[in-house]
Amino acid sequence: MENKITGAASESTRRSFIKTTGVITAGFLLSPQLIQLAKATPPDLTGAPAILTGNASVAATLGGLPVRTKKWPDWPIWNIEADEKIVVDDIRSGIWSRAGLVKEFEEKWAGVVGTKRCLAVVNGTNALTTALMQLGIGGGDEVLVPAYTFIGTVAPVLATGAMPIFVDTDRETFQIDVTKIEAKITSRTRAIVPVHILGLPVDIEKIMAIAKKHKLLVVEDACQAHMAEVNNKRVGSFGDAGCFSFQNSKNLAIGEGGAITSNNDQFMDKCYSYHNYGNPYGSVVGSVDAGTLIAGNKLRLTEYQAAIGLSQLKRLEEQTILRNENAAYLRNKIKDMPGITPYKLTPNVTKAAFHLFPFRYNKDAFKGLSREAFIKALTAEGVPVSSGYTPLNKMPYLQNAFESKNYKKMYSPKALDIKAYMQHNDCPNNDKLCNEESVWLFQSMLLGSKEDMDDIASGIEKVYSNAEAIKKAAK
Ligand SMILES: *Cc1c(COP(=O)(O)O)cnc(C)c1O
Repeated sequence: MENKITGAASESTRRSFIKTTGVITAGFLLSPQLIQLAKATPPDLTGAPAILTGNASVAATLGGLPVRTKKWPDWPIWNIEADEKIVVDDIRSGIWSRAGLVKEFEEKWAGVVGTKRCLAVVNGTNALTTALMQLGIGGGDEVLVPAYTFIGTVAPVLATGAMPIFVDTDRETFQIDVTKIEAKITSRTRAIVPVHILGLPVDIEKIMAIAKKHKLLVVEDACQAHMAEVNNKRVGSFGDAGCFSFQNSKNLAIGEGGAITSNNDQFMDKCYSYHNYGNPYGSVVGSVDAGTLIAGNKLRLTEYQAAIGLSQLKRLEEQTILRNENAAYLRNKIKDMPGITPYKLTPNVTKAAFHLFPFRYNKDAFKGLSREAFIKALTAEGVPVSSGYTPLNKMPYLQNAFESKNYKKMYSPKALDIKAYMQHNDCPNNDKLCNEESVWLFQSMLLGSKEDMDDIASGIEKVYSNAEAIKKAAK
């Protein structure tokens, strides 16, 4: 599942694309003059769609090159000269477990987010689990989560013993539908986990107002939203806690890694203690010689991970600005195309992270060409895309949790009636978005040039012009 949204997935899409087109266009690409020609001339939108030229007989009659054969920007980015020294120095020093580099990374990340404190942990999933647990979320509590997110948002809620309650999606913004939150609040609701999904900020100001009114805790899942802003304030600084991921596909890539941000010293001291076996830290102090204080865990980041993080952090702001520029340019280019509806930003967004660039596909405008066939055809044109998430409120892990020993001890059989739960957590808009509409472009593609964005638009146009032929061939 994770592969679906990670760089690994886009990498494999890209690789299979290169493999496919390598076969299709081998005849053309062997000639250096033609490579030059392909680079110098604008994309050929009159030729046959690339997906059809894989069929030898169609190719013979129609010909046709993919819109794009050029590589997309790599991810993650590693510059030997700029990045390697800090990592190699650390490896040679033998100081590998948590020390000065992790502390430096935490201070810098708190500075980026604009919070007083930051704690680095092993990954985003455990950042969320730690934050929820140390805010006191546990068995019997209900936690509101969006249906349109990654499993890494919901697994932490289950890990605390609480019950995730799904809120439907606003298909225009791809975010939690803030107008549907209050209807899901009960006397057992303790917290909301708003997710700035795809790196597009959720309407966090509205959510904070709802939380205040109902006295709920807010843990922001900002795992895809590095440096995103609402009213010039960075996400991850609005709620009681913000949680980040530095997994390889994320906009700040370490391989694995995560962080909790907050202005609450006592809460952050508890998180620190929890991530370090439960040993005393800051305000978490007991009587002398009492030993370990709280039931903890071991979630420390290593020094060489922090070194990689520090090297990547240097280029994050520049990359974020570039993604915003390219996304705005591309959005403008494709927004009036028939059957293509790009994301809408929620009110007051001053900067997005664009971990993904989403749009909605309407097959009716494409002569009934299915989304799956559209994705294959566009990918064959050299523009790799994904259909994104499948509904998280319908997967077997929920029943598995409800059948666990702990859940059976914490909840009544009625509360664990999976059929009733599924009904209560039905999210029809999310189903439509996941199953029919959503198409993603990956963040690394937004690190290219304006010409690269033009290629994306041309690819879509070409599939549109050939929709009928592609549909026939797909049968
Ligand atoms: C990646 C991600 C997580 C989990 O982060 P990991 O570092 O992979 O554990 C949680 N929520 C969202 C929305 C994510 O994209």
